[in-house]
Amino acid sequence: GLEARSVHKRFDGRVVLQGVDLSVDRGLVTILLGANGSGKSTLIRCLTGLERIDAGEVWVAGERTDGLRGSDLRRSRRRVAVVFQQFNIIGNVSVFQNVLNGAMGRVPFGVLGVLAPLAPGRLREKAMYCLARVGLADRADHPARTLSGGQQQRVAIARALMQEAEVVIADEPVASLDPEAGRAVMDLLVTVAREDGMAVLVSLHQLGLVEQYGDRTVGLKAGRVDFDTRFEAVPRDRMEALYLEDAVAQT
Ligand code: ATP
Ligand code: MG
Repeated sequence: GLEARSVHKRFDGRVVLQGVDLSVDRGLVTILLGANGSGKSTLIRCLTGLERIDAGEVWVAGERTDGLRGSDLRRSRRRVAVVFQQFNIIGNVSVFQNVLNGAMGRVPFGVLGVLAPLAPGRLREKAMYCLARVGLADRADHPARTLSGGQQQRVAIARALMQEAEVVIADEPVASLDPEAGRAVMDLLVTVAREDGMAVLVSLHQLGLVEQYGDRTVGLKAGRVDFDTRFEAVPRDRMEALYLEDAVAQT
């Protein structure tokens, strides 16, 4: 799994994260909630190693990862797959190649460690298997940019499987998708948690999805954890303060 201990982050003297403690367990989907500007994306970037933290600790799979550099950083980053809304895939190469890249360490953001070498035939077989699991085997040869937003998110999940990540972190993966495509992405994130034992962290603004998919709900407020509990146990007044998209309709 993944653990943050008292993570602090400032930008130009402005404090954005002020001591965040969080653990994301394997086999579960943990949902990150918070108003715009509360620090969700910043926390996610810190946890993935895309951003350096000013104080605190980040642990991935039992190893402390903040402060790692060079090949050690690349190796640890392979264990953490990210699913972003944009810059998720390489648009001008095939869907298949994007998935294969998970094992080669080539992703649109940073560089990951390479998996232990497999014979080329085995690698291709594995990439096709990962694509089949997200229901996109028939799109393998298409340029990735020709896929819909939801399909591109699913390619990123296939790449997470390919890179044998232990942790998957998704920053608002359904924000620009229609409800059906959003549910398809969330269903896959639950599947990789349950079936592959990954630790899944997802930031969301849609209350209905939190209720349906979250095993655990963490609320960020002004760079601190405001609550960390099961969804049903989140106090209503705290929920309303998060500017969730459908909070008004549901409460
Ligand atoms: P949203 O729900 O809108 O996505 P968020 O919770 O993801 O919001 P962040 O993007 O983490 O919030 O931003 C938290 C604060 O940190 C904001 O005030 C933002 O302006 C600031 N911030 C984020 N990245 C940087 C940066 N690279 N440089 C300076 N300030 C930044
Ligand atoms: Mg954000």
